[in-house]
Amino acid sequence: MGAEIVGHWIGGAETAGETDRAADVFDPATGKVARQVALAGAADVDRAVAAATGAFPGWRDTPISRRTRVLFAFRQLLDEAKDELAEAITAEHGKVVSDAQGEVARGLEVVEFACGIGHLLKGGHTENASTGVDVHATRQPLGPVAVISPFNFPVMVPLWFVPIAIAAGNTVVLKPSEKDPSAALLLARLWQRAGLPDGVFTVLNGDKEAVDGLLDHPDIKAVSFVGSTPVARYVHQRASAAGKRVQALGGAKNHMVVLPDADVDLTADAAINAGFGSAGERCMAISVVVAVGSVADPLVAAIAERARGLRTGDGRRGCDMGPLITGAHRDKVTGYVASGEQAGATVVVDGRDVEPDADGSGFFLGPTLLDHVTPAMSVYTDEIFGPVLSVVRVETYAEAVALVNGNPYGNGTAIFTNDGGAARRFANEIEVGMVGVNVPIPVPVAYYSFGGWKDSLFGDTHAHGTDGVHFFTRGKVVTSRWPDDGHRGVDLGFPRND
Ligand code: NAD
Repeated sequence: MGAEIVGHWIGGAETAGETDRAADVFDPATGKVARQVALAGAADVDRAVAAATGAFPGWRDTPISRRTRVLFAFRQLLDEAKDELAEAITAEHGKVVSDAQGEVARGLEVVEFACGIGHLLKGGHTENASTGVDVHATRQPLGPVAVISPFNFPVMVPLWFVPIAIAAGNTVVLKPSEKDPSAALLLARLWQRAGLPDGVFTVLNGDKEAVDGLLDHPDIKAVSFVGSTPVARYVHQRASAAGKRVQALGGAKNHMVVLPDADVDLTADAAINAGFGSAGERCMAISVVVAVGSVADPLVAAIAERARGLRTGDGRRGCDMGPLITGAHRDKVTGYVASGEQAGATVVVDGRDVEPDADGSGFFLGPTLLDHVTPAMSVYTDEIFGPVLSVVRVETYAEAVALVNGNPYGNGTAIFTNDGGAARRFANEIEVGMVGVNVPIPVPVAYYSFGGWKDSLFGDTHAHGTDGVHFFTRGKVVTSRWPDDGHRGVDLGFPRND
């Protein structure tokens, strides 16, 4: 018997691909290949888009009340399946189960937001804009849209987009990460059980070939992408060149600025949670602590003490921190630690010595704390995406702000202080899309929008919240006049409002 192959979800059923291409999917905690995933070719892209295109006219015209009922049913089923989904995430991503449950909960929030789509789609109406003339505005769905997601949130990131796109009357082709594809298939089954017509939600598994096929396909009207900055930039350019609406969220280097008056224990707890949660594989992970003045020594000591106490291992065993996504990625992250050390950083806690609580040879690196990191080192300049927390020491608040604002990424940042004036000034002058005040991972709630600035987002629309509704709809303004004797007569002049 061959290995299990995760297929695509097209037209309301799981289907094998039309190519022989497949990739290994690992259990990162054991290092073993758990199954394979089909990698779509051009024929699969065409089948997937055809299903989404065929389902669009019927779904577009389905009344909002009925669409909303499907959303409410999906919300209920998602809640009931949250443990199953979390286990599927942990099995392929490696993050600990409690973290995976948190991911599902944050995705569920967006479904709840989308349940209110009727209110969100309401347009304006002006009576008597001109004599006997009324005007109303409406927002209509775009058609089949593509969502392309990264490995690090196989449930939450698709749910940033899919519920809103579907609620607004679009059909969706989701291209999940090939590293952890199974959760998307579970979502597809839940949508079907919720009563969503076949073809409204499609899963196309694959790699660059599937992505390029979607970016170029004339029937795909919009692309929501989340992933690394080089790929986000590329997706934005290629989809834009094909005339599509596109939002492409990229990578990050999130700084936590700590002022001398901060509560050291509370700040150290926050740095640990935000630096090492999900083994640092979060786009909102804190990767740089900017210690201002005298806080540096006590803060580094407090973070180090906590980091040494963390238990790294299989996410199903109640550990604090799981493995990295692949062996290659773990080796890359380890290489950054070595290059930081060589460049003069102090390795305060060395995760390379970790003895994980796991069977086999999983892709582990323990929590690693580097002090005296400078902005010239690659551990500072690059997004590492692993459990490596760098401390940069500066003398003043102004230096800290200059460092954050000079960084090409602008996803998230946080300030830790008890000085309300300093925090307020920071929130105002920092050039980053999402800011926390004594909150290390300031992921906005679903009715606000999620998105970074600079190289962390290409396009001008953020994810979910009203930005999400705007992205997945286009505006139309209708000017109407009903026949009336006063309107008769030929007049070739430009219509005036009187
Ligand atoms: P990635 O860029 O490697 O992959 C993202 C998606 O693009 C996947 O579906 C993948 O199959 C596809 N892809 C990969 N290479 C491609 C190529 N050359 N051409 C076309 N498509 C390609 O990202 P990843 O490693 O899966 O995820 C981690 C990255 O995502 C990190 O950089 C992280 O910061 C970022 N991320 C950002 C956010 C955000 O909101 N800004 C959220 C989560 C993750």
